[in-house]
Amino acid sequence: MSLKEDILRLKQQTDTLIMAHTYQPPEIIELADITGDSFALAKKARNIQQKNIILCGVRFMAESIKILAPEKTVILPAPDATCPMAEQIDPMRVKDYKEKNPNAIVVAYINTTAALKAECDVCVTSSSALTIIDKLDAPEILFIPDKNLGGFVKKKLPDKNIVLWDGYCPIHNALTEEDVLQAKKAHPNALLAMHPECPADCVKHADLIGSTAEIIRFAKESDRPVIIGTERGVADTLIPACPGKTFYYLAKEKLICPDMKKITPELVRDVLLGKAGETLELPEELRLRAKKSIDAMLRLGE
Ligand code: SF4
Repeated sequence: MSLKEDILRLKQQTDTLIMAHTYQPPEIIELADITGDSFALAKKARNIQQKNIILCGVRFMAESIKILAPEKTVILPAPDATCPMAEQIDPMRVKDYKEKNPNAIVVAYINTTAALKAECDVCVTSSSALTIIDKLDAPEILFIPDKNLGGFVKKKLPDKNIVLWDGYCPIHNALTEEDVLQAKKAHPNALLAMHPECPADCVKHADLIGSTAEIIRFAKESDRPVIIGTERGVADTLIPACPGKTFYYLAKEKLICPDMKKITPELVRDVLLGKAGETLELPEELRLRAKKSIDAMLRLGE
């Protein structure tokens, strides 16, 4: 029996579903029942039949699933797979800020820990950030943790007093304008789609600035070749999935998130055999406080 067949059999025997973030390697995407960005996965978790979820991604994503679907058992195959950006801020610092600025609203990118979400007023995704922040009425809006996404929103909404935290995704932030110009020179006929976690001097050259899902949609619908300006897992999956289309990597050797590549099919099998992985625990009081900021996002994002 092949490893894939083994995993399929074990999934059925253990009432388990596999979810994979879009940045996972192709061999994990192939095993997944559901793929998507972190918030899409968390929303879908609420409606699945299976009791157990193996989350192929990083820790804050497993937390987001647990926040929205607390009745599910959420298992992280690689417990050390974390997102450096999500964990960049000590929640106490946000608490301090709120005490000193009681009229400010704190907005957290969905790429934050549950402990941080619990200290914030509203969450946003990269696709809902503009719509939601535009609706906020406060003398000051603190955006955490990503200065690049926050800076993109600030530029689009000059009337809002948006204060940025000095956080960033170390992968997207490492991209340089030179990387972008080289890719455009190599593929002059291609359009460029970029994630707003990339620095401002890079995204200013993009034809589309959008979330992972928006980049994928744009690339699939485009009549022209597209340079995929985000973590390389997106292009790794898009290229074989769309044989009639032409997609190019942007800085292929640089845009790799090592935490997203920690999970292997063998590890997934071991999780199903009960030999690996960590079952995520979230104290109920913390879950409810974190959920408030996600509920606010759902309300304001409509
Ligand atoms: S790509 Fe960046 S934001 Fe995404 S998980 Fe990796 S470090 Fe975090």
